[in-house]
Amino acid sequence: MSANNTPLFEKVAFIGLGLIGSSLARVIKAHHLAGEVVASTRSEKTLADAKQLGLIDQGFSSASEAVQDADLIVLALPVQATEKALQQIKPYLRADAIITDVGSTKGNVVQAAKNVFGENLPKGFVPGHPIAGSEHSGVHAGKIDLFAKHKVILTPLESSDPIAVQKLIQLWQSAQAEVICMDVAQHDEVLAHTSHLPHLMAFNLVEQLANRQDNLDIFRYAAGGFRDFSRIAASDPQMWHDIFLANKKAILSAVTGFEDQLQRFKQVIQSEDSNALMGMLGHAKAARQHFNHMLANTPLMENNAVTQQFTISPGSQQFSGHFSVPGDKSVSHRSIMFGAIAEGTTHVTGFLEGEDALATLQAFRDMGVSIEGPKNGEVTIHGVGMHGLKKPASALYMGNSGTSLRLLSGMLSAQAFDTVMTGDASLSKRPMERIAKPLRVMGAKIQTTGEKGTPPVSITGAQGLKGIHYDLPMASAQVKSGILLAGLWAEGATSVTEPEPTRDHTERMLRAFGYDVKTQKQDHGNQITLQGGGKLVGTNIQVPSDISSAAFFMVGAAISQNADLTLQAVGINPTRTGVIEILKQMGADISVLNERIAGGEPIADIHIRGGKTLKGIHMPEDQVPLAIDEFPALFIAAACAEGETILTGAAELRVKESDRIQVMADGLIALGIQCQPTDDGIIIQGKGKTGEWSPIFTGGQIESHHDHRIAMSFSIAGLRCAEPITIHGTETVATSFPTFTELAKKAGMLIQQSDV
Ligand code: NAP
Repeated sequence: MSANNTPLFEKVAFIGLGLIGSSLARVIKAHHLAGEVVASTRSEKTLADAKQLGLIDQGFSSASEAVQDADLIVLALPVQATEKALQQIKPYLRADAIITDVGSTKGNVVQAAKNVFGENLPKGFVPGHPIAGSEHSGVHAGKIDLFAKHKVILTPLESSDPIAVQKLIQLWQSAQAEVICMDVAQHDEVLAHTSHLPHLMAFNLVEQLANRQDNLDIFRYAAGGFRDFSRIAASDPQMWHDIFLANKKAILSAVTGFEDQLQRFKQVIQSEDSNALMGMLGHAKAARQHFNHMLANTPLMENNAVTQQFTISPGSQQFSGHFSVPGDKSVSHRSIMFGAIAEGTTHVTGFLEGEDALATLQAFRDMGVSIEGPKNGEVTIHGVGMHGLKKPASALYMGNSGTSLRLLSGMLSAQAFDTVMTGDASLSKRPMERIAKPLRVMGAKIQTTGEKGTPPVSITGAQGLKGIHYDLPMASAQVKSGILLAGLWAEGATSVTEPEPTRDHTERMLRAFGYDVKTQKQDHGNQITLQGGGKLVGTNIQVPSDISSAAFFMVGAAISQNADLTLQAVGINPTRTGVIEILKQMGADISVLNERIAGGEPIADIHIRGGKTLKGIHMPEDQVPLAIDEFPALFIAAACAEGETILTGAAELRVKESDRIQVMADGLIALGIQCQPTDDGIIIQGKGKTGEWSPIFTGGQIESHHDHRIAMSFSIAGLRCAEPITIHGTETVATSFPTFTELAKKAGMLIQQSDV
């Protein structure tokens, strides 16, 4: 019903009132969307039942009677019956009537309408298709929530009146459906692959097994997989008969694609090509997860929905243990990229199975690289060499990962084939010209096709890049790496000078893969040089634990009385170790043990003991760039320290995933800590007292502002809280530290995760 109490429609007439029609009728009745609802069906019984269920005001045995004076007509019958129904109702239609349908195919419905009305279709004619249903049919099977949280596709034609489209959108939205408009041909093509082919395969498998002599045994012992796969073979045969014939062309082409793929599986099994088989199975599994993730995350990212919270209760008596935090993201990305273009096999351990690194992994699978895993952080990459990447079938989706997009821009500029790279809404806003410009100077044909030099990035296959010398205008490890990676294929030397030192993971890992990279110290940053035309050799890469994730546990142990914690194999690349230095200056009992090199990166075990009261300090400005991601956790340490802590020179914190200075200040104040945010830092009055281990924080409610580091920092505060702390909006924690709550509990924190 509209705001002025006028129903959306005067009279709705259903032609056919089974599962789909009666579900929509339930919505219309419940929301008072029509002054009157009528129907015409084949059998009298359906009409009588519908009346008894309160779904219609009147039933008619003839469609022509039902549609008289109706301003909305819904064809909810098998698609093959459309033409006959339209013939019957044509003479009785109101001039302004909206005519829609719910059929699973659209091309043949439009053709049926043309057969009846000629090329001048009524302007109220707007075909539709709800992507919701079940194996049950009939008027009793309908459900009011059948369409809730499902998609409904409308396929407006050139002749369709926009007002009719708008009213149908309103109707379906009342059923809580998400409405999408698309072209008729596109609808039939997409549905042939995602719905019609799977149904045909289910019918086919059950038919194949039913025809065997031993069919009784086979069905008796059928496992869950068979039951899941064959469930849709219980759908209505008449309906699917109609759909398969109605969408014949698109379905036959989908079947051909299926046969070709099945043939490839047959061949690799026949020849016992274990690598190829693992590659295909792994690719399929990863694609399934990737798409699930994409689909599940899109609304989350777009709506910024708060779906999860952490609650930390007081009373943790210890914070101890011996374990590893997840792998470093920057190193995880590079291990896949370099393993893919190396000769031979690369084994990776400690791989971060977060969304960004998985996007890189999927991109290389899409370019024909066989990759096993990830499983418990282990990945095996069967490298294809410098010239073995293949053209991907479609655009490479990089999710939220700027690292992937910028580094791959360099690598793909040197390939012979064309590529397009896309990303999610947030990645699509990030600047890409900073990498595209120097690559063009090298001879790359690269375009940033979004507005303002943003993704999608489109690359035309080129060969014969030339090495350049480039003075980086900004301190960006990603731009530096993109240029150096293009340089691997370029003629001559490629060198980059940085204005100040940036993270050097690319240089270190290239060396680990046997590539000669020279680093020369300059006045401020470094000059890095490599010669094109060499090769990488597969190796073993141990991804160091991410020091940014380890920082929460370091601070947690440093503020706890009885803590004794060892974090294994943490990356201690000198460009990242500010947090250790600052905690030491605050008086924490922290030691770096067993230093070694893995995959070109320095790693060590970090041992932290509690029991020492920290001291407030003026944080050294030269450490700020080396600890930039760790300040939220360090603010918690400062609140537990004795005396005042001052941070200056850290304005960049205001433009991270959230304004980390303001958001942390708000949270600290909510938990009873005095602090003063400044333009480029913060002043925190620590509440610690030497030798006293009473709680520092009151309980309270914290808003994380979808910032994973804010959420984890306030979780750590829970180790010294007097009352429970609840942190809202913690779903983003999983993207950088999927095992955070598990490890925090293991160490002794009383933390609960719950959905809201
Ligand atoms: P259903 O439950 O079997 O209902 C079909 C309705 O159409 C019944 O009321 C039936 O009348 C009437 N009907 C059947 N054959 C007819 C004919 N030759 N002439 C006139 N009326 C006839 O089917 P449904 O699942 O609602 O499917 C209806 C439409 O929705 C189909 O086009 C289908 O492609 C589409 N759809 C179905 C699903 C699904 O999962 N089921 C999902 C999306 C779209 P009686 O009641 O008198 O038998």
